[in-house]
Amino acid sequence: MLIVKKFGGTSVANKERIFNVAKRCIEDYKKGHQVVVVLSAMGKQTDVLLDMAKDINPKASKRELDMLLTTGEQTSVALMAMAMDALGVPAVSLNAFQVAMHTTSVYGNSRLKRIDTERIHAELENRKIVVITGFQGINKFDDYTTLGRGGSDTTAVALAAALHADACEIYTDVDGVYTADPRVVKNARKLSAITYDEMLDLATLGAGVLHNRSVEMAKKYGVQLVVRSSLNNSEGTVVKEEVKMEKMLVSGVAVDKNVARIAVIGLQDQPGVAFKLFNHLANHNINVDVILQSVGRDGTKDITFSVTADDCDEAVEIVKRHGEGSLKCQSIDVEKNVAKVSIVGAGMMTNPGVAAKMFEALYDENINIKLIATSEIRVTVIVDLKDVERAANAVHEKFQLGE
Ligand code: ADP
Ligand code: ASP
Ligand code: MG
Repeated sequence: MLIVKKFGGTSVANKERIFNVAKRCIEDYKKGHQVVVVLSAMGKQTDVLLDMAKDINPKASKRELDMLLTTGEQTSVALMAMAMDALGVPAVSLNAFQVAMHTTSVYGNSRLKRIDTERIHAELENRKIVVITGFQGINKFDDYTTLGRGGSDTTAVALAAALHADACEIYTDVDGVYTADPRVVKNARKLSAITYDEMLDLATLGAGVLHNRSVEMAKKYGVQLVVRSSLNNSEGTVVKEEVKMEKMLVSGVAVDKNVARIAVIGLQDQPGVAFKLFNHLANHNINVDVILQSVGRDGTKDITFSVTADDCDEAVEIVKRHGEGSLKCQSIDVEKNVAKVSIVGAGMMTNPGVAAKMFEALYDENINIKLIATSEIRVTVIVDLKDVERAANAVHEKFQLGE
């Protein structure tokens, strides 16, 4: 069998954990399997590097940031190969250049396009464990790129697809995928299985346990994933196409604290205004999620929307720039201390009462809703950051998702 095993930052945070991971990989190797290991940077190293960059130059270019961030993963793979060697098993570490993991050219948020597999196969044929840097790629300018925060999951799935792996295992610091972040909702329940579609929604709406693009890619190439703990042997969660279970109304609750709300006030109440506003943002690759437009009054209207907190300053700058020109708005109001709570579930489609039930849970807790968005399979609300954990727990409780 060819097995791809991915370990996140906490799983390789120190010497003891590195040896723990090395041993788990060696177990499979000794059974005769071919083992490819994908690693994240140790512990919070990516955050540490970002802070260092910010300290030197708060406006550092995305190219140089990627150059810096890729050192995190390069450190962990080299140390892992050394640990395996110390345990008497031959291993080789490879970075994105050595493998040749080709991505789109955009820095900081690139997409994998193609992975060369010759070098990996050659090393595996030589009975080595191959330890590969997650999160990074190379672009057509021969520069390093990164896949966005949490992107090592996507590296692992892409490698599993390219190598036609028999298994793709994502090891992390929780026992699997839960009905809500177990660090936020104490009685969250571990799921034994979840569909790609539901996992994709949860991941996109803030459940950081898997990078959303890894789920998208797993679905596209039919890679079955297992999410499990690197610290114990409990069974974990299978992510796959179909799950034989009674369809639940709501499968999970997701929380996203990386959110900001921007209100553009006093826009002209005429056709084309929303188009112009969101087109300017799209041209700068800024994703907008929840959108609310007020009823027009005295020839003006307001448009409020949410973006990720990371994009907030750039979004405001763009709106300001055009607000004085083609857009003509009176003012801009920004709120950064907000967060998003979402419920996800395919069963919602045919059940009209679900949104109301979520709002009731928030009302019972006296939590004010700032913005609402719904689709066939999700309801999202934006609330004050200080209320978000209480909101997630109340909603989780209301739908009886716990154990
Ligand atoms: P890694 O470094 O292993 O990639 P991450 O921090 O990226 O780990 O992801 C694991 C974390 O995801 C958990 O510690 C947990 O707090 C968080 N999380 C958020 N939503 C969920 C969920 N629905 N199920 C499990 N974990 C979740
Ligand atoms: N080290 C990167 C990050 O912290 C990638 C990852 O962990 O998946 O975002
Ligand atoms: Mg992660």
